[in-house]
Amino acid sequence: MALVSTTSTSVITSNTQIVGEISTTLTKTNTQIMSKEEIEAAKAFELREKKRAYKQKCKKCMRCGKLGSEVENTKFKLTIAHIVPRRTEGLDILFGVSSGYIDEIFIEDERNYLVLCGTYGVAGSCHDGYDRLRFSLFYYLPENRYEWINSDGTRNFENTNISPAHQYPEVIGVKYARLLNSRTARMLYTPGVHTIMTPVQRAIFFDQLQDWTEHEQITFFNPIPNINTNINNNINDNINNNINNNINDI
Ligand SMILES: [Zn+2]
Repeated sequence: MALVSTTSTSVITSNTQIVGEISTTLTKTNTQIMSKEEIEAAKAFELREKKRAYKQKCKKCMRCGKLGSEVENTKFKLTIAHIVPRRTEGLDILFGVSSGYIDEIFIEDERNYLVLCGTYGVAGSCHDGYDRLRFSLFYYLPENRYEWINSDGTRNFENTNISPAHQYPEVIGVKYARLLNSRTARMLYTPGVHTIMTPVQRAIFFDQLQDWTEHEQITFFNPIPNINTNINNNINDNINNNINNNINDI
């Protein structure tokens, strides 16, 4: 089974912390037991194929609509962005079963993937803007869809050339609503960011964002006493990790 490419060493290095969630029973064709390095390489390969397949399924940037076929060999080629980029300290405490949610967070799950153009550092790309918290995707329960919102609070794309203002689970798959919406809340409360929303509008929207994730909760009332602070701290960590660890994005 030709699963290990000659370039796989660098892949192992950049994915060491996340490939552990990928289960594999791959064995060499000569029935010898695979070495630890070979297993890691096979897992990395599997992960790359999983991301590739998801990009092919979605076909275009989820924010601006650039087709993968049009930007394939450019710096705006489609990449996988993670809503939460890696397993941060306390992630499951905040968003897992111990906080009343239906399951734990799996970093390398399609529910944590977004397909965006470019990558961190490519100015003007959606992946770069997403990592810099200039816009965010949130789950809009009343119409069962995902919608983009900018850091200034605008929710439409007038005066831009952006077309897909929202996305549907039937098209992009089900996402972690709790991660999307807490990230969105954090963006709107980032100090110094200009917003068109009044404090009251923002507070109402914040409550709605929490309400729209109820379907991911086992219990209606979240047991965390100071959820706002916890979410803010956690997302701060995630943003830092996002910037520092974009090597994990392909
Ligand atoms: Zn884009």
